[in-house]
Amino acid sequence: MAKCLVMSDILYVGRFAPSPTGPLHFGSVIAAAASYLDARACGGKWLVRMEDVDETRTEQGAASGILRLLDALGMEWDDEIVVQSRRKALYREALASLSPMTFECSCSRRDYSGIYPGTCRNGAKGPARAVRLKVADREIAFVDRIQGKVSQNLAREVGDYVLFRADGFFAYQLAVVVDDIDQGVNHVVRGADLLDSTPRQIYLQRLLGADSPQYAHLPVAVDQAGEKLSKQTKAQPAQAGVEVLFRALEFLGQNPPCELREADIADFWKWAISAWDIEKVPKKAKIREGK
Ligand code: GLU
Repeated sequence: MAKCLVMSDILYVGRFAPSPTGPLHFGSVIAAAASYLDARACGGKWLVRMEDVDETRTEQGAASGILRLLDALGMEWDDEIVVQSRRKALYREALASLSPMTFECSCSRRDYSGIYPGTCRNGAKGPARAVRLKVADREIAFVDRIQGKVSQNLAREVGDYVLFRADGFFAYQLAVVVDDIDQGVNHVVRGADLLDSTPRQIYLQRLLGADSPQYAHLPVAVDQAGEKLSKQTKAQPAQAGVEVLFRALEFLGQNPPCELREADIADFWKWAISAWDIEKVPKKAKIREGK
């Protein structure tokens, strides 16, 4: 039986938030399927949000291709699709409300290596390029439903991070937090490649006066070289059909019976939703695919 971490009178709201930088591949189908299963097994809502905040990486036609594939895979989303590039007013407002904690920064990547040393904290040294958030020298800790206890000291491990980029776009960290709050998302199920970003997001949620969602970070599918499956590593686009869903379910440790490979999509989801158990997901950050 699925374990639902919300009280029965609070509706579970989960989401899948792909970046439309190319077609979905096996790795993104895992995140889509796990977030869908967790939401549906808890009787919750499942939202889809197009994370095209970094417009320099958007690929023409990718968003519609992703939605077509989700549809063909039988993943039915709730509510309207939210598109980040249309929500800049919301991000601008949040950035303004954080202004006591932010500063303008004129540094470029060439000015420092590693963790940002705080050069412009007390005034930009040249024409301002970006806006950064001042971080505190204390641990941000949370318990991930899959990865267990996670803790990070933002000052020592991350540094003052960018909320508004030098090239004029809002940063992912700000957009994702504003959107999760605005959409009432209280459960985030996504790849463990984002585990390291979560303390930054929790810190922002606290500054914005919001509760943090429950997080579950899934193992990430990596290739033989240990690299995350992605467009950069030439991962193949996922194909519609039950096969990729079956493989995702296996990857997620759910032990689907062989017959499910031949099932139609509706029967596949019926089985997968009733059998979903997040405790069975391997408690690892990476799993090699294609062995
Ligand atoms: N848009 C991000 C990605 O495609 C996911 C962000 C998230 O789930 O918070 O990697």
